[in-house]
Amino acid sequence: MNGVCAPGFDRLLDFMETGWQGDGTEIIYGVWPDFRLAYFNEGWMRFARENGGAPWLMSPECLGRSALDVATPELRPFYRELFTRAITTVTARPYSISHEYECSSAEVYRKFAMLLFRLEGGQGLLIANSLVVEMPHAVRGTVPVEPSADSAPYHNEHALIVQCAACRRIRHQQLEGRWDWIPAWVRQPPERTSHGLCDLCMSYYYPSKK
Ligand SMILES: [Zn+2]
Repeated sequence: MNGVCAPGFDRLLDFMETGWQGDGTEIIYGVWPDFRLAYFNEGWMRFARENGGAPWLMSPECLGRSALDVATPELRPFYRELFTRAITTVTARPYSISHEYECSSAEVYRKFAMLLFRLEGGQGLLIANSLVVEMPHAVRGTVPVEPSADSAPYHNEHALIVQCAACRRIRHQQLEGRWDWIPAWVRQPPERTSHGLCDLCMSYYYPSKK
């Protein structure tokens, strides 16, 4: 087992030595029943480093923080519900719940699968994330948009740009329901950017709220 582990959590992970083992590329973390981080592996640190994560994400300081703090505020209620379901659901499978999500960069579309393993007696969760799809955006038919110098159609009445917290598309303020893929703003969001969820992500994460 590689990575950083809180005292007492390692004994819950014994099954990793004998039972389930990843292929070494997964991003894996563990949480206590209150969802504070108790473990993260080298894959977690590598991903944080390669994607410009905050330094605390790569240090033992991370332990004890809520794993929900790593999610954007728009997605926290979803992950709180997912983690709660996973820790309270006992199944015959080794993992109790799975979930797929997009985590793209400006350059590539990426989809990850998350498996949530309920640890012995519900004493915690082990959460493994593996890349299932990675391809250039163009291969999916996504047409990138270059914003004009004044960014006009993307400013709302408060002069804010609204980015989807999940897929990172930008809301077009003049065409209802349109969200554009603007790689330059994924790389570096404009200063006055707020967050929301586009219609597709809203129906994926919160189907009952549609
Ligand atoms: Zn979206």
